[in-house]
Amino acid sequence: MEFIAQPLPATKRVALVAHDNRKSALVQWCNRHRGLLERHRLLATGTTGSQLEAATGLEVEKLFSGPMGGDQQLGARIAQGEIDLLIFFWDPFEPMPHDPDVKALLRIAAVWNIPVACNSSSADMMVQSTLMDASFEREVPDYQGYLAERAGK
Ligand code: PGA
Repeated sequence: MEFIAQPLPATKRVALVAHDNRKSALVQWCNRHRGLLERHRLLATGTTGSQLEAATGLEVEKLFSGPMGGDQQLGARIAQGEIDLLIFFWDPFEPMPHDPDVKALLRIAAVWNIPVACNSSSADMMVQSTLMDASFEREVPDYQGYLAERAGK
């Protein structure tokens, strides 16, 4: 498969997800970067989003709760080019009953080459990059070209 340029915009669409034992860490992290996050668009799985809105006052688009399909909704939005960054505080100590969704979300973020942070240090470094407020050249799979090529066979 070929790859094509598909820049990430200066105003980023940031997806936020935290497992239950990691939600307070994500709330703290968002409070720490509140000023910066206000300049971007935030979306989250249901419970994460509700807790973030209540605790930080930030505006968050809330999808379904993760186990009810919210992780898969995020995955679809990534594939559609509608999410630019994923901050996913997954729980390294607790297997989730919906672990396949977790894996699928991380996988699709890798496929579509969006920046991903799974802990506060990575997330700090990611949002403090000068690229956070600038357009960023990223490459994605040329899916349309791939389909056209297959159809021609
Ligand atoms: P939640 O989902 O934000 O609805 O808790 C997170 C997850 O477990 O994927």
